[in-house]
Amino acid sequence: MPALPALTDLDPAPRILLGPGPSMIPPRVLRALATPATGHLDPDFLAILDDVRRLLQFVFQTQNELTLAVPGTGTAGMEAVLSNLVEPGDRVLACSAGYFGERLAAMAERHGAEVDRLQRDWGQVFEAEAIRQALQRKTYRLMTLVHAETSTGAWQPEIPAIAEAAHRSGAMLVLDVVTSLGGLPVEIDAWDVDAAYGASQKCLSAPSGLAPVTLGARARQAIAARRTPPSVFYLDLEGLQRYWVEPHVYHHTSPIQNFYGLREALRLVHEEGLEARFDRHQRLAHRLWRGLESLGLQMLMPEAIRLPTLTTPRLPSGIDDAEVRGRLRQEFNLEIAGGFGALAGKVWRIGLMGHSCRAENVALLLAALQATLQPSAS
Ligand SMILES: *Cc1c(COP(=O)(O)O)cnc(C)c1O
Repeated sequence: MPALPALTDLDPAPRILLGPGPSMIPPRVLRALATPATGHLDPDFLAILDDVRRLLQFVFQTQNELTLAVPGTGTAGMEAVLSNLVEPGDRVLACSAGYFGERLAAMAERHGAEVDRLQRDWGQVFEAEAIRQALQRKTYRLMTLVHAETSTGAWQPEIPAIAEAAHRSGAMLVLDVVTSLGGLPVEIDAWDVDAAYGASQKCLSAPSGLAPVTLGARARQAIAARRTPPSVFYLDLEGLQRYWVEPHVYHHTSPIQNFYGLREALRLVHEEGLEARFDRHQRLAHRLWRGLESLGLQMLMPEAIRLPTLTTPRLPSGIDDAEVRGRLRQEFNLEIAGGFGALAGKVWRIGLMGHSCRAENVALLLAALQATLQPSAS
């Protein structure tokens, strides 16, 4: 066997993460990650899980008893919800106006659903009335919708009216809140959303690897009425619920340290308070937008439906996307992302999420963009 090359200490560059996730992890969360492990059935750990459950109910604004986090990133949350709620042959209405809306449609198909897409161009949002009409054409088991579409920067309004339309037609509403949870209002109970999922590494600023999920009564009844057990054993939500609450039956080994990190990140959200946290995201996003505009950049999304957590300025003409982002990374240690899919080469994606959403980061990014886009003579 060839000898391994000498390995250096782990030392990635200290990036300032202003992309679509992951966001930066606060020092308190990093310290929590270094806490020694207990067993996954240790009473101390079960109490920690209970804290996480209650803190997640707080950020989701729900009393749903089935509120937990599954191992994996946001996509695991998506897979958990769909694999529990969809049975082969079920009809699903998927609202698709960006990459993640389309991923929900494709994933539902893989779970055997007959999917109808309500399609809009990338960057558009859905009117409740259009959804109401689409729901009348067939009997759907559920509809899927993205609250904060990270591929375009669109903020979907009218969730309560859409939930009402879904319920009136007999369908459940599955809502992707990956880029909104912890960054802008998500009110699962007030809006009457049946199932929602997020991700630890976006506006919650915990390490990636856990996906918060919450299910309401309709969703749990639908699971209880399944003809077959959920197709993914690992993400069986009722099985996991029996581990999270009494009688605490083993389902799979929890990623212990990840939960320490998530608990501390959620504790920070609770200490800051939801209103203050949403206000911080709004305020600094406005500062970013004004700054980008003064550099001559135009935003893809109109302000009324523009996410504060993910901004998509159009690329100025004649600008080399990869070169600018490369320089931001090499000269300023800044990460922003490019567009993809229908928006490849057309926009940048700038995230202001959780711990990354700070005044000094906005100021640095604007100064770095100015230096990169408008090099002075000196
Ligand atoms: C990031 C994201 C996902 C997927 O999450 P991963 O953590 O990358 O698996 C799903 N939906 C939206 C809206 C996202 O922004």
